[in-house]
Amino acid sequence: MSGRIAGIPAAPGIAVGPVWRYRPRGAGGVPVLAVASRGEAELRIRRAADAAAAQLQALAERLCEMNRPGDAEILAAQALMAIDPAIVEEAVRLARGGMDPVEAVLAAAEASAQVLAALDDALLAARAGDVRDVAVRVVRALSGGHLDLPAVPSVVAADDLPPSLLAETPPGLVLGLALAGGSPTAHVAILARSLGIPSVVAVPGLLDAVRGAATIALDGESGEILVDPGAADLRALAELQVVRGARDRAAAALRGRPAATIDGQRIPLLANIRSPDDAVRALEAGAEGVGLFRTEYLFLRRQAPPSEEEQVSEYRRAMEAFGPARSVVIRLADIGGDKSIPYLGLREEPNPFLGVRAIRLAQDSRELLLTQLRAIWRAAGEAGVTPHVMAPMVATIADAQLLCGLRDEARSAVAATGAACPGRMVTGLMIEVPSAAILAPELARLVDFFSIGTNDLTQYVLAADRGNPSLGRYQDALHPAVLRTVAAVVAGADQAGIPVAVCGELAGDPAGALVLAGLGVDELSADAGSLDGIRAALAGVTGTELRALAAKALAATDAEAVRAYANELLGAKREGRPRGGPAITVRR
Ligand code: PEP
Ligand code: MG
Repeated sequence: MSGRIAGIPAAPGIAVGPVWRYRPRGAGGVPVLAVASRGEAELRIRRAADAAAAQLQALAERLCEMNRPGDAEILAAQALMAIDPAIVEEAVRLARGGMDPVEAVLAAAEASAQVLAALDDALLAARAGDVRDVAVRVVRALSGGHLDLPAVPSVVAADDLPPSLLAETPPGLVLGLALAGGSPTAHVAILARSLGIPSVVAVPGLLDAVRGAATIALDGESGEILVDPGAADLRALAELQVVRGARDRAAAALRGRPAATIDGQRIPLLANIRSPDDAVRALEAGAEGVGLFRTEYLFLRRQAPPSEEEQVSEYRRAMEAFGPARSVVIRLADIGGDKSIPYLGLREEPNPFLGVRAIRLAQDSRELLLTQLRAIWRAAGEAGVTPHVMAPMVATIADAQLLCGLRDEARSAVAATGAACPGRMVTGLMIEVPSAAILAPELARLVDFFSIGTNDLTQYVLAADRGNPSLGRYQDALHPAVLRTVAAVVAGADQAGIPVAVCGELAGDPAGALVLAGLGVDELSADAGSLDGIRAALAGVTGTELRALAAKALAATDAEAVRAYANELLGAKREGRPRGGPAITVRR
């Protein structure tokens, strides 16, 4: 039986495919194997490597049949890595020496990944991540753990999905994502956008609707979900895809030009990335730098934190990709909230979004942040660029002072080794907690820039968990309460003469980008896939129109009115909305 349901659009694009239901299996962590003898350990390592290779090869073949040769090639290469003698024999050697087999596989893979990461060749260095992915797969085979992944490329339907699971899914397996829970600013939705996976979230009754269904189609731009679509539905979707393709090509044609309004008000557009591998896509999309490098993703898909060496290599790759003239803002790891890292052993908390998250980790895990900062200094020294750093979740003056203190301590440690070390680190604060916004004039005197995280700012200003689908009506960052807070931050920054960027999802939404530019925000940073849409939106308006829009937005009393004003301006300029970030609309 076919049916339609409406959710909230979260990542653009249309996906059609078999339904695969994800069911969580409880907490992860590093399994430890009880093995009777060293001989048994060796046998199990070899079998697990073979099993992982066979799984990967089978996936590669299926992707090939589905005419996805690029994705198939990646998986076929990973299949070979799983049985790479250099890794398997080293793991066996370590296990014979008495190491737990799981630890042995991870240690052997890590050693191999580090050799790759240290290579000057960017392509080979990028393979380090693949080696770690493969090791996780071998460990799962070793511990009899199920791979919570579809066997064939599918549209995933779930209540909610941990971002780490999507991050470690082989490319091409998830055609689309439909969630009963979540919101467009939950990290899993942000990740889906950066992976180009069409997604719809907060879909009421999703799991009941897909029970027994074979196929699902979803439109990540309208938020519509079709369960077991008919031939006419599929034809209509294909036609829509053609129309949108033409619109997107028109927006992409502006890529060579600096982003600006008709009358020349420049608004640099930067990219949000989570790995140096994203730099290629960002540069292709015309990004003028990186406004947010979400470094916590370097801590996922593994069983121990990345070493300082590894981090140097990752940060250096990103810096070198953009060169000395374009900044790469590295955000210290935002661990906590909905991004938990099991191996760090952090305490469970009743309210993780209000708990020991991000810069607050400095209290118990100071070395984690110091390692990151040393790696940033060293990477910039090696790449010959000025480093840029910012801290998430800053709430107090003391937090800002703590960041500056850690930064200086890390520099002294690097300089003492005689390594190349730049003279300064451009230092910023993420403004995403209301207290930081209130303290903006004082905080602005301590640092070089602000970057507003509208995802968290909205969650904290409106006291609405960003991942809770029941709170959709409170989760629109265009709410005047959020916009008035942004205006206060811009005013505070202006007093000290420092620039303000926005790197939350609102910056990637054309309507949001217009309002933010009108409020005096200096730079916008968004997923590479959103840059064409916001560049096209800005190119169609004047600075005067933007300021008038911002004034109306500040005087409004709800988000719907603000969106209507912004869409009125967008619509007056052009027919149809450009492809961009999600329309962060309230729940239908
Ligand atoms: C934000 O909160 O807006 C932000 C950019 O940070 P994150 O989404 O990673 O929490
Ligand atoms: Mg945030």
